Amino acid sequence: MAVPEVTTVRDTATIPAPATPYQGDIARYWDHEARPVNLRLGDVDGLYHHHYGIGDIDHSALGNSVGSEREKRLIAELHRLETAQADLLLDHLGPVRRDDLVVDAGCGRGGSMVMAHQRFGCDVEGVTLSAKQADFANRRARELGIERSVRAGVCNMLDTPFVSGQVAASWNNESSMYVDLQDLFAEHARILAVGGRYVTITGCWNPVYGQPSKWVSQINAHFECNIHSRREYMRAMADNRLVPQAVVDLTAATTPYWELRATSSLTTGIEEAFLNSYRDGSFQYLLIAADRV
Ligand code: SAH
Repeated sequence: MAVPEVTTVRDTATIPAPATPYQGDIARYWDHEARPVNLRLGDVDGLYHHHYGIGDIDHSALGNSVGSEREKRLIAELHRLETAQADLLLDHLGPVRRDDLVVDAGCGRGGSMVMAHQRFGCDVEGVTLSAKQADFANRRARELGIERSVRAGVCNMLDTPFVSGQVAASWNNESSMYVDLQDLFAEHARILAVGGRYVTITGCWNPVYGQPSKWVSQINAHFECNIHSRREYMRAMADNRLVPQAVVDLTAATTPYWELRATSSLTTGIEEAFLNSYRDGSFQYLLIAADRV
């Protein structure tokens, strides 16, 4: 007699991505992404991030160094601030138990996934449109010996294979600007358990400014994304059983990171647009933590 298979969340098939021509463009973008600003920072300690940093610069860490020594110290400092950003996101995930499953929607090369597992001991599933990123994240997990708990898959985060209500916490770390927010939050609300926690850290345009500024439009063009407004986040959460518990404006906390980055050799040309839009109030860096009700 055949033994019935036990289907767990982690056994379910991955839905192939991308689903739309736009998602195909984004998959290609991240497949080809190899900017030194991302790779050299990750090389510092093996946590590979594709997001920005928060917190004050530790000027003593930079010292009076010049040339390549300054560059090395600057890279380590930028990386420290990016890891602090992910730590703040994890601080808002709430109590996560070892036997919980958490989901990183738009996981990139997996730095936040590794940190979540190291902090909570839980299982972490990440999804990305980019096969290169998923391979990279899975390779890192193997190198760390945590591949049984940390796994990345190529999957559209709007249509994931996770069983409804089985996920204790989920997040988007700088990945919500690639999707429609109603569709995104509907999927998070589906996979999250009642009482589960959703967190996003994102750039959003500020409705108080009026409309997306020219700097915001430049950022959209640079990353082929569509930055939403703060108002859209609140509305789409309210429509999808996600009730904000904390809204933290990180704009002032991320500005030193951008000022430091603009002085490095790793600039990508988008630094001025970020700094100008943060300064003129048209763009905000926001953390939103919400309860699934
Ligand atoms: N959260 C990661 C990576 C952010 S970069 C970090 O903090 O380091 C943006 C990520 O969003 C990329 O990995 C990209 O593949 C992913 N992404 C964009 N649209 C997506 C979609 N529809 N489904 C899954 N991943 C998506």
